[in-house]
Amino acid sequence: TIPVLTIDGPSGAGKGTVSRLVAKKLGWHYLDSGSIYRSLAIALLQQSVDLNDEEEIVKVAQNIVLEFECADELIVKLNGENITAQLGLESTGTVASVVAALPEVRRVLLQKQKDFRQLPGLVADGRDMGTVVFPDAQNKVYLTASAVQRATRRYKQLKEKGIDANLSLITDEIEERDRRDMERETAPLVMASDALYIDSSDMSITAVIEEVLGLIH
Ligand code: C5P
Repeated sequence: TIPVLTIDGPSGAGKGTVSRLVAKKLGWHYLDSGSIYRSLAIALLQQSVDLNDEEEIVKVAQNIVLEFECADELIVKLNGENITAQLGLESTGTVASVVAALPEVRRVLLQKQKDFRQLPGLVADGRDMGTVVFPDAQNKVYLTASAVQRATRRYKQLKEKGIDANLSLITDEIEERDRRDMERETAPLVMASDALYIDSSDMSITAVIEEVLGLIH
C-alpha cells in the first residue's frame, strides 16, 4: 500500500508548515485538506449561497473543480480561477468550518482527498486525516500548541501576507472555530488512538520536523 503520514490538529499548530517541509524532504505529495473546505467556502460566498441551505451547499460541493499547484506556497484554482489570495483569510476559515460540520459535505469531499494518495507517498494535513480519511495510515501525528501560541502564529502569518489582522479578534475566531471543529458530530477533531502527540508550543519548527521524520524510518 502507498505510505501516508497524517498530521491532524487544531488551527495554527504549525501543521501546514511542518507538513509541507516534511513532504518536501521525503519527496512525497502533500494534501492540505483544509484548503478543500476553504475552496468550497469561497465558491459558496462567490455564488451567494445561503449558508442554511444544506441542499444547495452540497450541490456546489459536488460541482467544484479544484487544481493544486505546489510552488513556494500552495496555489489553488477553483473552477479555473486562482483563489490563493482569499484562501488564507480567517473569514474563509470560519465559513469553511461552518460547512465542514455538514455530514453530506464531508461525504462528497471524501474521494477528492483520498485521490491524493499516490506513490511515492502522501503527507496529509487536516482534522480527520488519521481518523476518517486515511484510518489505515502507517504514521499519524497529532500536532497542537497552546491557544496563545496558535493565535500568535496565525496573526504573524496573516501579517506576513499583508493581510490586516487584530490579535484579540484572531484569538476569538480561532477559539470559536476550534470549538466548532471539536464539537461537531461528524468527524470531530480528536486525536487518533494510534497517533503521536506533539505539543509544539516550546519547540522550533526544525525540532518538530525532526521528531516527525523520526517516525518514518
Ligand atoms: O486547516 P484549515 O484552517 O485550513 O481548515 C479550515 C477549516 O476546514 C477547519 O476549521 C475545519 O472546520 C475544516 N476542516 C475539516 N477537516 C479537515 C480540514 C479542515 O473539517 N480535514
